[in-house]
Amino acid sequence: MKKRDFLKVSGVLLAGAALGGFMGCKPKDLVVKSDEKAKENPKAAEAALFVLPALEYAHDALAPAIDKETVEIHHSKHHAAYVNNLNKALETNPALALPTIEAVCAAIDSSSAAAVRNNAGGHYNHSLYWRILANPAQVQKREPSGALLEAIKSAFGSVEELKKQLTDAAMSRFGSGWAWLSVDANKRLFVSSTPNQDNPLMSKVVEKAGKPILGIDVWEHAYYLQYQNRRKDYLTAFFGILRWERVDEYYQAAIK
Ligand code: MN
Repeated sequence: MKKRDFLKVSGVLLAGAALGGFMGCKPKDLVVKSDEKAKENPKAAEAALFVLPALEYAHDALAPAIDKETVEIHHSKHHAAYVNNLNKALETNPALALPTIEAVCAAIDSSSAAAVRNNAGGHYNHSLYWRILANPAQVQKREPSGALLEAIKSAFGSVEELKKQLTDAAMSRFGSGWAWLSVDANKRLFVSSTPNQDNPLMSKVVEKAGKPILGIDVWEHAYYLQYQNRRKDYLTAFFGILRWERVDEYYQAAIK
């Protein structure tokens, strides 16, 4: 999510390529593979266009809703792979190497390389997902309030109805994908679902475009270790660890 000076970054990558290596690494190895690697090798982390954001909580903080092992693998393996593969894919698709992940997603069209589309979505989607979750004991707002609550009532009638529509969108997503609450161009809330790692920022490829403020990962890797095929139980647990004040922050930013 961090803005990067891509000209500087690409200069480093090109220099690395020209020299046949950079501090003993091939250019493709300059991408950060994990938070740990970022600490061990800050130069490598700096050279990467996008980096894996650190979690704001321990791997076991979301338990029992989402168990420690699932969070650890999901963040340090799956999300890290999206970041690494995105950086690699952007080396061969420089026109999409834009300074923010939001800009990359917005630029995706049906002719874009699948590796960029899937991994840019993967990075953006998971960055949002981690930020809107928290241990219930640390959640200030357990339910939406203020302008967000009014917008939910206006669009859905009630918070319960919103949760029902999100659950339905997540349950009816065949295979892997996401369920979303987003703000449309008229600043109105809507629920949608996208396949794979697509998201509503990808206005040229999704049915309905908007700015996501809440995303639910319904890939099996998000819940299978703990819930196996019980996707609905995972969704119920998800709402118990939802950090509504963060959703509210995203809402406020989206309607500006
Ligand atoms: Mn995931």
